This record gives sequence, structure tokens and C-alpha cells, in this order.
Amino acid sequence: MSDRADLAIRGAIVISDGAYPRDVLIREGRISALVEAGAASAAREIDARGLLALPGMVDAHVHFNEPGRTDWEGWSSGSRAAAAGGTTTVLDMPLNSVPPVLDGASFDMKKAAAENASIVDFGLWGGLVDADPASLGELAERGAVGVKAFLCDSGVAEFPALHEQDLVPALRAAANAGLVVALHCEDETLVREATARVRGGGRHDAAAWVQSRPPLVEVRAVAAACAAAREAGARIHIVHVSAIEALGAVGAAREMGTDVTVETCPHYLTFDDDDLARHGAALKCAPPIRDARNRDGLWRAMLQGKIDFVASDHSPCSRELKAPGDIFGAWGGVAGAQSLLSAVFSGVATHAGGALDMRKLAGFVVWRLAARPAKRFGLWPRKGTISQGSDADIVLFDPDREWTLDGAASQTRGIDPYVGRSFRGKVVRTLVRGRTIYNERETVTNPARGRFIRGGEVAEG
Ligand SMILES: [Zn+2]
Repeated sequence: MSDRADLAIRGAIVISDGAYPRDVLIREGRISALVEAGAASAAREIDARGLLALPGMVDAHVHFNEPGRTDWEGWSSGSRAAAAGGTTTVLDMPLNSVPPVLDGASFDMKKAAAENASIVDFGLWGGLVDADPASLGELAERGAVGVKAFLCDSGVAEFPALHEQDLVPALRAAANAGLVVALHCEDETLVREATARVRGGGRHDAAAWVQSRPPLVEVRAVAAACAAAREAGARIHIVHVSAIEALGAVGAAREMGTDVTVETCPHYLTFDDDDLARHGAALKCAPPIRDARNRDGLWRAMLQGKIDFVASDHSPCSRELKAPGDIFGAWGGVAGAQSLLSAVFSGVATHAGGALDMRKLAGFVVWRLAARPAKRFGLWPRKGTISQGSDADIVLFDPDREWTLDGAASQTRGIDPYVGRSFRGKVVRTLVRGRTIYNERETVTNPARGRFIRGGEVAEG
């Protein structure tokens, strides 16, 4: 057999540990070499002149809800949304699917459903609802990327919140099993009090939702989570931080050597309370989307490196559950898998002003959307980088294109609040392990089957 490449992507600027023009050679689904233009031949070629070649994004937080609530999204539609947005690996959360992923058997069910329908690669989160070491062992053994716990009501009855007195023992058990813990940090008692106050006044509009979950709700829960992690010797990841004040507690925990990372989501970076008033329940989520000053503060925090990465928290539902009326009765979750990269790239271009050139800007985004999450959850260097030996997960991206998301192009089954939104920077083509799964010029027939990727083994850096 010759060692000639199967595919060459020619003429792009490769963005991965710097920016440089290279031809990317792919063999058997992996990157076999990065070479000077025209230096090697290949069986097939893609002309990528004028484009950036980015590693596929690693979206560390999605809810595709299958098995069990496939009518809300599902692996087929959810993974197509991801692919169109330049994401090649998703990490799916253990809840909203039925059964929730709480042990080996439910993990295997989720994995089989995803292998059957996903066109992107995937890792799976397990759940942490008590301090049961037996099920944690089953999840760790199967390669879960970590376990997720709620410090408040999760929204679904089958996934209970962790009791306050169980927090430290549960974190200790997860640490012993070698699992990082993703924490939804809102203080249940404060949520209940504020909700009773707001609803007692007869309010059920979108602004009432924001007032029922003020920043203090997040601040208190994040501070408690960080202190508990230190006590337990656990690695934690704070999901979807919305309130800028909550980042202070994370910074303090890092000062004390606690292994904590933090994510925010594209909807907190894109929308504000005026948008929430306009869109209503389509933008309902917990914690809520706050005001423009908070949103701009999140951008500054990200540019200063205080936020480790951005994940979509893609969590659509049936359209009836987002029906207008009482905001408290609507499902909380926003569809954003398809717009993750474009929303963040556009926003960085705006908020960084003239400080970054286009390649540096792309490098900044790639670190936060691909390399950093891949490293945190043990997928790197197989995922999150364009390097020899890595999976050939590549996004061809036009950084100069200005465009608007059309309803017909949106892939989610749920309501997509980004439809009609204009972006700078567009995904032209997405490849997983060397196979095209999205091409803006044509419908891809027979795309790749997504593969399960084990997580958990943490790389340095
Ligand atoms: Zn979520």
C-alpha cells in the first residue's frame, strides 16, 4: 500500500497553535501531515484558498434528548445543527433524555441511540444525583467525560437535584472515580423565595423570570460549589454562568488552587433582556439572560481570560412547551448548537475592536471553542487541534463573510432564536474524520456516522 493521502485540503490558512498556510493531508480519517503548498499529492482534493481551516469545535454542553424526548430534538437533527455550525464533537448532557444517564445501562442506551443517528462524534456526560460510588464506577469505566449535578431543581422529575448535605460527599466520590463534575449553580432556596415574591405579585411576563433568579442566586451557588470542591479535592466545571458577579467566586477559588473551569453560552453573549421581552419563552433559560451591561461584561471577562470556554447548552423542546402565556410555565432552554461558532466569532470581532487581526481572532475563538474544552474533558489531542495524528475534524471558515441565518437553513426541531440574526464569519464546509458532513453549496448525502469518543483522561495544558 502506498502512503499517499486520501484527501488534501489545499490553500487554507491553518488556525491551530498559530496561523500558517499549509496543505492538510488526510489518510484513513486522520491528519497525516501538514505540508507546504503543493508538496504532496492525494487521491482527492478540496480547494480551500481564501478560507481558514479550523479544528472542529467541541461543544461541551448539549441536550439532544434521545432516547425519550426525541420529538424535542434527537441525534439526527441535533447533530445536523452542530455540523452546519462547525461543531464536530458534542458532549451530551445526561438529562432530558429518558432514562437519564445515571448508570452503565442508561449510558449504553444513549450511546447506541447516538451511534445510530448522529453525524458528529460525541462524548457522554453521566449524572450525579447522590453519592453512590457504584454507578460512578460504571460511568467512569465506560468513558464518561464527567458527571453533571444540579444545585437547584433540574426542570425534569427524573433528574433530582443534589441535596446540600450530599454536595461534599458526592464531589469526593466523583473525585475518587476520576470524574470531573459539571455543576448547575443556582441556589434553590433563593430561587424559591424570589419566585414566590415575583409570582405573588401576579407577574408572568418575561422580565418576571429574570427577577425570579437574580445574580445573587448564582453568586451564592458558585461560591458554595467552589468551597465544596476544595474541601472534597474535586475537579469541577461551572456550566452556563450568566451573572458577571459569579466569576468573582471562581477567581477566588483559583487563587486557592481549586481545579475549576467555567463556561458561558452564546445566548448570554448575544442577547439581552430587551431581546427576551421580544422573543418571550424562546429565550427562557436558567440562569436567565440578563441586561446589556451584564452581557458586555461577559465579553470583557472572556477577552480577559476569566471564562474558559463557550458551549451552546443547546436545549430545545416541542413548540407547544414554548407557547406564549405564563413565562413560568414554559420550558427553559435555548437552541444554539448551530450558531455557537458564528455568534462567538462575530461577537469577538465586535468587542475586541481593532485589537486583533482576523487570524488572531480565529485563534482566540478556536482555543475557547475547540482546544480548551477538548483538553478539559480528556479528548485532546485527538480532538481540538489540527496536528499530525489528530482526527481530521476540520472546518473551512470564511472570516469575512457577512450573512443572516435563514429559517430554512436552521436544523433544530425546536425554535431557533438566531433565525434572522446577522453574523460575521461563516462555515463553508465541515469534515469529521476526513468525511464531509456539511457543505453550504450542496446537501451532503450519506454523511459519516458519529463515533463515541471516550473522555476523562486529562491531557496537560
Ligand atoms: Zn444544560
